[in-house]
Parts: sequence; C-alpha cells; structure tokens
Amino acid sequence: MIELSGLNVSERQKSIILDKMDKMGHEQVVFCRDKKTGLKAIIAIHNTTMGPSLGGVRMWDYKNELEAFEDVLRLSRGMTYKAAISGLELGGGKAVIFGDSATQKSKALLRRFGQFVESLGGKYITAEDVGMGPKDMEYIKMETNHVTGIAEELGGSGDPSPVTAYGVYMGMKAAAMYRWGSDSLKGRRILVQGIGHVGAHLVKYLSEEKANIFINDINKERLNFVSEKYDTKVVEAEAIFDLNMDIYSPCALGATLNTENINRLKCEIIAGAANNQLADENIHASQLKERGIIYAPDFLINAGGLINVYSEIKGFSREKSLEETKNIYNTTLEILNKAEQDDTTTNEAAISIAEQRLEAYSKR
Ligand code: NAD
Repeated sequence: MIELSGLNVSERQKSIILDKMDKMGHEQVVFCRDKKTGLKAIIAIHNTTMGPSLGGVRMWDYKNELEAFEDVLRLSRGMTYKAAISGLELGGGKAVIFGDSATQKSKALLRRFGQFVESLGGKYITAEDVGMGPKDMEYIKMETNHVTGIAEELGGSGDPSPVTAYGVYMGMKAAAMYRWGSDSLKGRRILVQGIGHVGAHLVKYLSEEKANIFINDINKERLNFVSEKYDTKVVEAEAIFDLNMDIYSPCALGATLNTENINRLKCEIIAGAANNQLADENIHASQLKERGIIYAPDFLINAGGLINVYSEIKGFSREKSLEETKNIYNTTLEILNKAEQDDTTTNEAAISIAEQRLEAYSKR
C-alpha cells in the first residue's frame, strides 16, 4: 500500500516510486504532510513477517524528496535483515523527516510525527536516529506509545551504546576464533576509529583483554579522555590505512571501506560498530574477500543497540539484553563458515541467512 496524499508528484515520478518499492519488497510507505508544523516525513515499512517494524526516525536536510525516499527504503530494508539475523521477533521499518534538525525541529512537529506513527496502530515502532535525541522521543511519546529509546528514568531502556559495544566485541572475538583458532585478543593490534559512545566502551573490553590498542578520533577531548583511562596509542587519520594491525574497528562514520582504503588496509579482520561501513556493498564486500580480509557484517555485530530497544518492548532487563547480545558470537561464526562453504562474501552470507529465517517464519 502506498499513500501519496499531499505529495506533489507527476505520474512518471509516481511510477518510479512504485517501481522502487516493488523491487525492494516494501509492504507500505506513508508520506506524511502537515502545513501547520511544516512536517514532511516518510515512514517506510519494509517487512512485518517476524513482528512489528522497528527503526529509528532520522531528521536530515535532504536535497530532494527522491533522495529521502531512496534513503528510507534502503534503511528500512536494512532493519528487516538486522532484526532477522539477530533472531528478534521484529520487522524492518524506518522514518525520515525532511529538514535541518538544528533549526527546523520543534516540539509541535515531533508531536505531529507521533500522531502519524500512532495512526499506523503499532505496525511501525519508532526510535532515535541521526538528528534525534532522547528529548525528541519524549515529545513523540506524548502522541503514541509506539516509540522506544526512552530514558531509563522514564521507564525506557536508556543508552544502548554499552550493549552495542558488547555485541561488536563478541563479533570481533568470533572473527578472531575463525581466523586464528583462538578468540583471545591478548596482544592483538587493534585500531578503534571513533571513540565516542560505542568506541570508548569497546576500548574498555579490549583493555581488559590486554589487547594492543590504537585509537583515532577527530575530537581531541575524546582522545584525551580515553588515553587517560586506558593504555592506548593515538594514530593520526592519514596513518590509519598504513598501520600494521590485526583488526580494524570502524566505530565513527560509515563508508570508510572504499576501493582505495581497502587496497591500503593492513589487517586481517574488520569488525566495528559504524553503520554501512562498505561504501558500495556489491563492490567492496568482494574486494575484501579477494584480499583475504575477514569482514564481520556491520548490521549483525552492531545489533546490540536494537536488542536493547527490543528489551523495552518485551520488558526484559539490561542483563538479559547483554545475554541476548552474546549470541552475536555464534551468529558471526555461522556466517563466516557459510561464506567459506558457499564461496561468497560474508555480507551475502548474512543476508541469505536472514532471508532464510524470514522464509521459515512466514511458513509457521
Ligand atoms: P558517537 O557520536 O558517540 O561517536 C562517534 C565518534 O566518532 C565521535 O567521538 C566522533 O568525534 C568520532 N568521529 C566522527 N567523525 C570521525 C572521523 N572522520 N574520524 C574519526 N573519528 C570520527 O556515536 P556512537 O553512538 O558511538 O556510534 C558510533 C557508530 O556506531 C555510528 O556510526 C553509529 O551509527 C553506529 N551505531 C551506534 C549504535 C549505538 O548504540 N550508539 C548502534 C548501532 C550502530
């Protein structure tokens, strides 16, 4: 189902939209408009086979509506795979709000967005994403209960970063086991690029294992904060891809794995938290395979954050979230072995396992 009410598009554009939706297999896309608050948003529900669709709402100053539309379709499909590979009874969805979050976000606009979420009757559950913060979720919650990522004081699951970091750590250890026959990270040369919320927690785990830790960040304060707490060495940005390391862990922005960087990389494993690490998943997953570098798929090993918000829906504790997140270890090993057996990339192996789970679930 597609609702194009209020959207000023030509017949040709309408057919492009429907075509894209069909190709990517979306169930429902809702275009939201409100003149009074200036809200322009799209909610995309990709797949609800395993449960209600869940995914953050992103506020971004898109160049045009087609760019926003493509982004929300891609992100919502990614959420379906992330939930399925993590074994959660959730579907994939995502929402985008057009505009600059620094200047165009208002309480009224967010409440109006909350009303649109409410109108979907729980088929889409929203959460924080780029351009959104915990306070914004509180405004949305004034209009709907289909929202997660609420502060702990208000009965929510709180900051997901420690759980995400634990999942990345589990994925990294599984990749180490696959490559070296031992999951000990003691003495391993590991670079964590981006030591924000997730990266700093990851450094803590690595430090407990006495890994040889290298860090990089554009924020000097973060570098000082982490270096004072843990035994680490700072690496300048331009030196990252020439550094001899065992594991590269991208925990800042996506798309750091492009053709040039992959050619330069001197590591055996890539395992990090950043979303969409491969600049182009079709090209760069194969390039990594050709170079013999093990890539632990980002959407699997950073799923701790999703598991944490899932706990909010299911009402389980932080301890249980960490326990569920521990499974990322076994799933990573399963994917790496499947990729080897099928002579495919780890990214493709992960997607194919997620698709098999969806298929099996739909037959129950
Ligand atoms: P954050 O904003 O707290 O930390 C990001 C860090 O990266 C900051 O310290 C920032 O200064 C640094 N950084 C930004 N650009 C950089 C660059 N070019 N080079 C080096 N460092 C740079 O974010 P976070 O919550 O720690 O998330 C990190 C990544 O993991 C993001 O890509 C996020 O989408 C992804 N992720 C996070 C979660 C979560 O639970 N927070 C869950 C899933 C995925």
